[in-house]
Amino acid sequence: MAGEPQTDCLFCKIVSGDIPATFVRESETTVAFRDINPQAPTHILVIPRVHYPDAASLAAAEPQIAADVLREAGQVAADEKIEANGYRVVFNTGAGAGQTVFHAHAHVLGGRGLNWPPG
Ligand code: IMP
Repeated sequence: MAGEPQTDCLFCKIVSGDIPATFVRESETTVAFRDINPQAPTHILVIPRVHYPDAASLAAAEPQIAADVLREAGQVAADEKIEANGYRVVFNTGAGAGQTVFHAHAHVLGGRGLNWPPG
């Protein structure tokens, strides 16, 4: 059921502690941890504790938690001191856009120049 932990979801297992991760922030509704395959000097994932497959379905069902994810992304950028030179918050949505884990997550990327448009 939407919002419930999924036994086959990698990020639900990180939320529950069954799979280890390098956590940098936690809130009542979100956790943030370092990406295992970083694409920039700072690459952190901010995810809701509840399971929704992507950002749009999270925002539709739980708009406050979607706002919490965005707030925490900003806090991560402040904590990592990547604000001054700019950073990017990305929600890959759908396999065609590169989404590989179907538990909503924001990528927070910074610490190097970021090209536009992205690849
Ligand atoms: P997506 O491709 O937008 O779905 O992003 C999924 C991200 O999760 C990728 O950047 C992966 O490197 C990252 N990832 C996959 N497994 C783990 C893990 O166990 N810990 C931390 N990050 C992970």
